[in-house]
Amino acid sequence: MLRMRGFSVVQADSPEHAVALYGSSPDPVYLAGGTDLLPTLKLDLRQPRTVIAVGRALSQDRVDQAGWIKLGAGMSLARVAALDLSPLAQAASRVAAPQIRNAGTLGGNVMLDTRCRYYNQSRAWRNALGGCLRAQGDLCCVTGSTRSCVATQCSDSVPALLVLGAHLRLLGPDGPRQVPLVDLLQYDGMHQVDLKPGELLTHVLVPKPHPDAIAAADKLTVRGAIDFPMLSVAVLARFDGDLLADLRIAIGAVSPKPRLLPGLNSYLGQRLDDPQLDAIAQGAWKRTRPQGSIAGDLDWRRQMTRVMVRRLLVGLKGAGGVG
Ligand SMILES: Cc1cc2nc3c(=O)[nH]c(=O)nc-3n(C[C@H](O)[C@H](O)[C@H](O)COP(=O)(O)OP(=O)(O)OC[C@H]3O[C@@H](n4cnc5c(N)ncnc54)[C@H](O)[C@@H]3O)c2cc1C
Ligand code: SF4
Repeated sequence: MLRMRGFSVVQADSPEHAVALYGSSPDPVYLAGGTDLLPTLKLDLRQPRTVIAVGRALSQDRVDQAGWIKLGAGMSLARVAALDLSPLAQAASRVAAPQIRNAGTLGGNVMLDTRCRYYNQSRAWRNALGGCLRAQGDLCCVTGSTRSCVATQCSDSVPALLVLGAHLRLLGPDGPRQVPLVDLLQYDGMHQVDLKPGELLTHVLVPKPHPDAIAAADKLTVRGAIDFPMLSVAVLARFDGDLLADLRIAIGAVSPKPRLLPGLNSYLGQRLDDPQLDAIAQGAWKRTRPQGSIAGDLDWRRQMTRVMVRRLLVGLKGAGGVG
């Protein structure tokens, strides 16, 4: 049986209260739905002395503002899945299973810890291996590096939020700030979101998509449910007649940093016919180098980038009535 260490739990009443508690408590950590943090504590991967429950302090609402859709970080993934906001809703609907989507929050999904098959194990398992760079060891078991961790960022919502151009609203000891999500993601398995100590994610802001934009997301898994992605892809496109007017593709679950594919503007003004589909899918394959920190044959996950990107684009083309 896995037993958790002892810790104090304090309930925050507001985001400001949560940040103040963080600043005044020994070894604090935020807990929202707890669907990822609690398994982490059971595996003794983190040893907080204070768990600050923020679920009730965070907004769970959607507010439509001029040009933006403001989503409370406390919104459950089940509610996110019911939004008319593609591809975020599809991505949320594929997380785990209904029980976890009811408890897990959007904020917790964005801030999800990276995963690794050598790390997300019990202490006894890790000790038998001698630990790794991230815990009780000095070498990365995936790459042999003594310096960097390549644990995988497996959040389903992040690639979708990247193609939507989302920003994060944060509250920290120095006050609030708003930063594009893309600017906060780092290629660092131990610090994949560049937050300052004590910063709390309060809202996710999504620019209102163009009325003609169409988008979709998909993930590669072994099973149909309760599975983290081994690869996830989100796409957003807009057509002007039958010509591409906007195209964004994000790839996640291959490394510590989900990424927007560069170079897609060169396809704008073109039709999305077979040569373009092949070239875009080939470009995605070329730029994707999965790390072995999670399960799944590396070459297969890489090849599937090409397949999934093409499949999603063909679906969008059909949905847009183009071609
Ligand atoms: C069996 C199982 C399957 C799963 N499958 C998937 C999956 O397919 N896809 C997927 O994406 N996830 C999956 N998860 C992970 C998890 O359920 C979700 O990512 C969920 O959205 C996490 O949200 P939470 O509110 O429970 O976060 P918590 O567990 O409360 O927190 C997660 C992390 O985020 C931090 N945090 C939480 N909220 C904030 C905030 N507002 N500001 C700053 N930091 C914060 C916490 O300190 C912690 O480090 C799975 C989990 C389980 C147990
Ligand atoms: S990627 Fe390497 S350092 Fe990071 S958790 Fe896995 S084995 Fe440890």
